[in-house]
Amino acid sequence: MEVVNITENVFQITLPNVNVFLIVHPVGLILIDTGPKDSKDSIFEGIRKIGKQPEDLKAIILTHAHYDHAGSLAAILETVQVPVYASALCAEMIKKGIAFKTSSKVVAFLLKLITLSGRIRSTYINVQEVKSPIITVNEGDWIPDESGLQVYNAPGHTAEQLALFYPVKEALLFAADCAENTKKLKLKPVIAYQSIKLSRQTLKKLAALPFIIVVFGHGEAVIKEKFEEMFA
Ligand SMILES: [Zn+2]
Repeated sequence: MEVVNITENVFQITLPNVNVFLIVHPVGLILIDTGPKDSKDSIFEGIRKIGKQPEDLKAIILTHAHYDHAGSLAAILETVQVPVYASALCAEMIKKGIAFKTSSKVVAFLLKLITLSGRIRSTYINVQEVKSPIITVNEGDWIPDESGLQVYNAPGHTAEQLALFYPVKEALLFAADCAENTKKLKLKPVIAYQSIKLSRQTLKKLAALPFIIVVFGHGEAVIKEKFEEMFA
């Protein structure tokens, strides 16, 4: 686990295969995504590394339901009871412990077979069910208010995905898994998109936002110019 200072008040906690983010906001700490299962201790260690305590957490935002983003939500909520924000579809999925949905009928059929119609749980398809209420957000909403992050629907990688725009002095875009910057900035492998066409539209929409730095669920932050070159 490594903590990277992205801007004065935004930190990336780099877990082995995914990033989560901490925002030091006037209301307290805001956590974006929760990593895979068993990431709670690493995330709490990251919080302590920036001189805060897990009790300082005041909100959690999920970008999407994938196991490597929503996998430790239930565990974290056992320690800190804070509001959770997600898209309506994401909320519906994680309340049932579902991390993965497919738009392909063939894949859906195979999943049904493999999981015996959902009776067998798998690391990649399921997360621990989340019992507490989830606040559902949609494009244009602010978390927790207009001093915070603005929500953008970001379908493509998954249908339920959200991106977040943080219009502070060094404005940030949290692009989740729309693209990745592991080794270089690129689209993820085709198989990682429910709809590559929708994803390109999403990337174009996000490229028009006035951010300076963009961060991803996987890989390193880049400046807006690089993102525009690829996706605008
Ligand atoms: Zn994902």
